[in-house]
Amino acid sequence: MASLGHVAVGMALGRAHARERPARWMLAFSLLALAPDLDVITFALGVPYEHALGHRGASHALLVALAGALAALAPSEHRARAGALGVIAVASHGLLDAATTGGLGVALLWPFDDARYFLPARPIPVAPIGAGMLSRRGLYVLGVEAALFAPLLLYALWPRRGPAE
Ligand SMILES: [Zn+2]
Repeated sequence: MASLGHVAVGMALGRAHARERPARWMLAFSLLALAPDLDVITFALGVPYEHALGHRGASHALLVALAGALAALAPSEHRARAGALGVIAVASHGLLDAATTGGLGVALLWPFDDARYFLPARPIPVAPIGAGMLSRRGLYVLGVEAALFAPLLLYALWPRRGPAE
């Protein structure tokens, strides 16, 4: 999928977490929600897509989401709550990718199982990788994601009333 859906999840989690100054939490959770796709660097290293360390492999696993998010948020204040929401942010990435129409599936259960999985329902069109996003197909995928994730984006960006006077 394109990155818009992952960012929408991160922004909504940031908004849910922090009543005061939610922008920095929206950014933090959005970065966590995007982090599993850092595995695209493995393409440049010659790692095949279907390898456990390839794209949508180990970095998209639920166990890695748990460990990664907790490690990233351990130094923050409100550790337990931020850690729990961080795990949701990272874990949502693999689950959303498993709801896309293309690719080879997601290694959700790595390291216990190298199999790649899809969810039973796959409403999200798979995005072209890299510069392919700057195409008609890329725009179509962004449009579909904008529609699917509009409720999360609205929740995150809807103006809040100030404190009661
Ligand atoms: Zn991904």
